[in-house]
Formats: sequence, C-alpha cells, structure tokens
Amino acid sequence: MHPPTPPTSTPPTARVVADRHGRALRNLRISVTDRCNLRCGYCMPEEEYVWLPKSRVLTFEEIERLVSAFTEIGVDRVRLTGGEPLLRRDLHKLVARLARHPRLREVALTTNALLLTEQAPELRAAGLSRITVSLDSLDPNRFHDMTRRNELGRALAGVEAASRAGFAPIKINTVLMAGVNDKELDALLDFARSGGHELRFIEYMDVGGATRWSPDVVVDRDEILARVAARHGTPRPLAGRGSAPADRYTLPDGTVFGVIASTTAPFCGACDRARLTADGHFYACLYAKKGFDLATALREGATDAELLEVLRGNWRARSDRGAEERLGLADRTPLAGRAELADDPRLEMHTRGG
Ligand code: SAM
Ligand code: SF4
Ligand code: SF4
Repeated sequence: MHPPTPPTSTPPTARVVADRHGRALRNLRISVTDRCNLRCGYCMPEEEYVWLPKSRVLTFEEIERLVSAFTEIGVDRVRLTGGEPLLRRDLHKLVARLARHPRLREVALTTNALLLTEQAPELRAAGLSRITVSLDSLDPNRFHDMTRRNELGRALAGVEAASRAGFAPIKINTVLMAGVNDKELDALLDFARSGGHELRFIEYMDVGGATRWSPDVVVDRDEILARVAARHGTPRPLAGRGSAPADRYTLPDGTVFGVIASTTAPFCGACDRARLTADGHFYACLYAKKGFDLATALREGATDAELLEVLRGNWRARSDRGAEERLGLADRTPLAGRAELADDPRLEMHTRGG
C-alpha cells in the first residue's frame, strides 16, 4: 500500500490571526495520550502520576473537529505527541483523517519509537509526513538508567522500521545531560550519520514535570558546538531557520545536525506553536500555567463559529514568552513542584505534549 499523494495545489488560505507580539499560529502540537511506556528522568521522574480520566480524553472525531477550527485561524501543520502517542489505539486512523484535511500541509509525529516496528508501515500508508524519534542513549545500561525501562533494543528496531517504511530523514532528538549521557555526543552523531538521520541536541528544559532540573545538568549550545568542533571540525550554521526551534549546522563532511537551545537561547519571538492536551485544553505556551478548556465547549455543543471565535480570541490575547521570561530569572528552578503537578497534571510535559 502506498501513502496518499500529498495535495499539489496550495491549501485554501485561512484568516491568519496574530497574537499581541504579531506572531501567527501555524503549528499545533496535539497530545493524544498522557500515558507513556518510558519514564525519562527529565520528563517523568516520579513513581506516581495523576492521569487524565479516560472519559475526558478527546475522541478522534473531536480532535479532527478542533483541528479543523484551528486551521481556520492559520494552523497548517500538526504534530502528534504525548505521552507516547503510539500507545493511542489506532493512531494511524487519526493520521489518515488529518492527512486528508485540505488546509494541513503536514502531519508529523514525535515518539520514543518503541512501537514503531508494528506501526511505521500503517502510519506511512495513512499519510504521516515526518517522524521525530527521541533517543538519549545507545548504551543499554544508560538507556535503562535514563528511562527506567530496558527497551533500547525496541527503540533501535523502531527507528530501523521507520526507515524501511520510507520515512527520511528521521529526526533524532537527544536531551543532553551533564554527567548522564553527554559522553555519548559523538556516538549519537555517528549513529545518526550512518543511518541517514538528522540529530538534534536539545538543552534540558525546566518545564513542568522536570522536577529534577538544575542548571548544572544543562549542556548548553555553546558547549555542544565546542565539543562537536573538537572532534568533527567547525560546524557551519545553515541559514533559513524561520520559526523552527532548531539551529541547524553542517560539518565539514556534510553531516547536518541541530541544536534546540530552548533553555539558554530561547526563540519565543518567532514562536508559531500552541498545544492541545489529550483532554482538549489549549495552551498558548509550553510554560503557560493556565490553559483554555476547549473540550467542554465542544461537548456542550458549541457550533463551529463559536469554537472559532474562542480560538481567535485566545490567540489574539496571547502574549506568552515563557522561555525568555525564565531566562531572566535570577534563581532558576523547575517550573512546578510535585504538589502543584499533582494538583494540575496539565502542567506536565507528558500531558501537554513536548
Ligand atoms: N514520548 C514521545 C517522545 O519522547 O518522543 C513524545 C512526547 S515527549 C514529552 C516530546 C519531547 O519532549 C521529547 O523529545 C523529549 O525528549 C522532550 N522533553 C521532555 N522533557 C524534556 C525536558 N525536561 N527538557 C527537554 N526536552 C524534554
Ligand atoms: Fe520520555 Fe516521551 Fe515518555 Fe516523556 S513522554 S517519559 S520524554 S518517552
Ligand atoms: Fe513559544 Fe512559549 Fe516555547 Fe517561547 S516558551 S518558544 S512562547 S512555546
């Protein structure tokens, strides 16, 4: 089976809405579940979590309806995330629905790859545009230490399966942590190069859920570039980043890699993205403490026009620059403590979607 041919015509234009800083909304990250089959220390370090009630989780029909409304105010790319999105039953059916939407240019996925071996072919056939895999270690023991699960083999098999299914290049996201996996910088670069993937190093962020965050563990962009340069030659910056979060570089041998410097050099000025939790709450910033409950409006029978008005109003009122504000803090500590997270699980990165 082949993936549907992407539309060649330009999608119908939406009435793009600007926020208070003149930023348009283009990119919607949709968390399809708050559950996960790993326990990464920078994201889910605790033993216990408060989960969203299953009855509150949006159905595919509800997600599609909300996405449709979002496209009316400018969204033309969506990314499915979580939690671990591949845990959501029949995810490929949601992908197929969204891939058919005339205003969407791209339906992407961020995953830990554990279930890609089973699902990559059907996701490809459904029209998924791109896959980003989060992978922080190539060493089985360290992988276990970092994720509390002994699953490196399944993750690597998943990346291979996605390649075989035709996804290329696969982006590999690595959160580099000092004294944890930073020794693997070269090994990860080599792994990505040899597989034809594009590696992006992410600075460890003090987001909701990262209750063990401390500035000492962040490996910042300058250090990453210096370490890469020491072994591979000076990285040359690539132009044309636009609103993408990664700064991209090429090495003398042609390898392309990226750095997402959200912690030390945030890019809020160009931010065109928002998030939808699995239970239908809209957040205009990764760091926002308050969201807007779209699910209740939807379930109480809001018309398309009413939904659109709510979205438009929310985006127009947006002035968030969360990461830049955090950069200005004298004493930077995690965004939220355990009690606050238990009280409001939508503050969690795994609920909000990374
Ligand atoms: N489970 C999927 C995965 O890991 O790819 C999707 C959800 S996960 C929350 C999305 C991304 O957020 C992953 O690339 C992960 O590395 C990143 N992430 C989570 N917590 C982070 C933190 N404290 N700092 C930086 N990145 C983080
Ligand atoms: Fe790790 Fe993603 Fe699961 Fe968070 S949601 S624990 S980053 S696999
Ligand atoms: Fe956008 Fe908020 Fe991230 Fe800044 S911190 S780039 S405003 S989501």
